[in-house]
Amino acid sequence: MRTLVVGGGIIGLLTALECARAGHRVTVVEQGPLPNPAASSYDRHRVLRALHPGDAGATRAALAAHDAWRELETSLGIRCYHQVGALTVLPAGRAEEAGRLLAAAGAPARNLDSSQLAAKYPHLSLPEGRAGILEERAGVLLADRVLTAVAARLRGHPGVRLHTGRTATGVDPAARTVTLHDGEVLRADRLLVAAGPWSPALLAPYTRGGVTVHRQTMLYCRVPEEEQAAWDAMPAVPALGTDAGAWLVPPVAGSPLKLSAHEVCRTVPGADGRTADPACTGLLRERFSRLIPAFRPEWVIEARDCHYLTDTESGDGLLLDLADGRCFAQAACGGGAFKFAPLIARALAQRFHGIQPPPTGLKTLDVPRRAGTGPT
Ligand SMILES: Cc1cc2nc3c(=O)[nH]c(=O)nc-3n(C[C@H](O)[C@H](O)[C@H](O)COP(=O)(O)OP(=O)(O)OC[C@H]3O[C@@H](n4cnc5c(N)ncnc54)[C@H](O)[C@@H]3O)c2cc1C
Repeated sequence: MRTLVVGGGIIGLLTALECARAGHRVTVVEQGPLPNPAASSYDRHRVLRALHPGDAGATRAALAAHDAWRELETSLGIRCYHQVGALTVLPAGRAEEAGRLLAAAGAPARNLDSSQLAAKYPHLSLPEGRAGILEERAGVLLADRVLTAVAARLRGHPGVRLHTGRTATGVDPAARTVTLHDGEVLRADRLLVAAGPWSPALLAPYTRGGVTVHRQTMLYCRVPEEEQAAWDAMPAVPALGTDAGAWLVPPVAGSPLKLSAHEVCRTVPGADGRTADPACTGLLRERFSRLIPAFRPEWVIEARDCHYLTDTESGDGLLLDLADGRCFAQAACGGGAFKFAPLIARALAQRFHGIQPPPTGLKTLDVPRRAGTGPT
């Protein structure tokens, strides 16, 4: 079977790897280098936590993703998933509910009240009336390291061709063809379009309610030596319990401390560079000087923006089935899809063989939307 993948982000690369392992002849088309520093997937780290408040299915899926990443580490022979845990800080009333959701999914977690939080994390100054939930099977994925390792594995695979620096300008799902910027037309039996935040350029005719492009600013910080001990045993903190939606990723395996907040995530017309907006970096500096009392502006070594896409209707990721299981498009990657990539890749490879994959709990993956219709 010939499989063509447009896009060398985490979704495209892992799907290419799954298909190559299943014996397909795989071609990957990537507009930049591999990995591409402009991609949504390209960063020092991404967080994997199970807790998806109000979504039992995604919570279950993230737990399965935890196991999938550990398997991937073994098969790639690299250390890329640091299981440092994840701490979600919530208004006290919601922590109990979050604990129940995790328990139902079988995710080991511990509830911490505000005094336990203060004792365990004295270097943070959290808002009043907050509680925490600390997950064990969670942590930090070293994103750039994963992309580099998967690209290298594909490069060495005899059944794989990688076309870098080549842009797809058109796709024909029914014919499974892709037209490149130089006019060449590539043809395959199965086709995946996983173009991240650039998807609208290729998929606009197929996305019913449209997609929304989000751009978020992040600060990368070097923690001074005298503060290092406090950060050594720090979990990822996807929510610090603020109304601004502040979050942090701790320094792991030589990576910097990363700081951001939903308040610096804005809707933009399209993906356009990664230069950080100075107003957003200023806001983040101010926000984190209150949340981390020792924080100083000199800690910041870099600031960068990154994009992701959501389905405008659902606010979530969107997977389209464009040709009865023979052409899929990740029309909206979503703001948290890195962690799910091994599950997405596995399910797509199975669907390419006409196999209905076991349900993961992720709505868009379990029931891809047929273009022009509701969910199938
Ligand atoms: C600030 C921020 C924080 C995030 N944090 C997390 C997190 O903690 N945990 C988590 O799980 N997820 C997180 N995400 C989301 C996650 O990063 C994305 O959902 C995921 O990386 C998307 O991967 P992708 O492969 O679909 O897209 P991308 O990584 O963007 O890959 C798409 C690729 O396609 C290529 N391409 C595009 N158009 C063309 C074309 N026409 N021809 C050829 N090539 C093309 C691009 O160059 C790119 O390499 C975060 C996202 C952001 C922005």
